[in-house]
Amino acid sequence: MKEPFLRELYTRTVQRYNRQPNEAEFGGWMDVLKEFDYSDVDAALRRWQNDVMIEEFTHRPIGARMPTPPEVKMSIQVFEAKNALSFTPCRTELCNDGWNYFYKGQFIKRGEIIPLLASAKRCKCHREWIEREKMGEKAS
Ligand SMILES: [Zn+2]
Repeated sequence: MKEPFLRELYTRTVQRYNRQPNEAEFGGWMDVLKEFDYSDVDAALRRWQNDVMIEEFTHRPIGARMPTPPEVKMSIQVFEAKNALSFTPCRTELCNDGWNYFYKGQFIKRGEIIPLLASAKRCKCHREWIEREKMGEKAS
């Protein structure tokens, strides 16, 4: 994601924890989190803030303290790994494992007709499922 978007998430998070933004700290966020999409980081921060599990060291809910960038990153990765395990594609029309493939003509190679892939995008079933999962995580 681009810097202004991450900065918005960072500023919002800092404000939520009643702290002052700090360029050095934001630099850490850039290093670790810029590779992710806005929606993934946004969802991970919301999950974190709603996490009521008591932490061993602080004896307070996890969500009571601001996460470090590696903790946000780990939350995204754990969430994605869980998704990969429980997702079932709809397999309707163009759907193939939650992806829609669009072809642009075809060519023949050694007597075999091979479709030419123009683009691939996530099927509606996958996008809807991600949204449901995010909501479920928020509620729990
Ligand atoms: Zn589908």
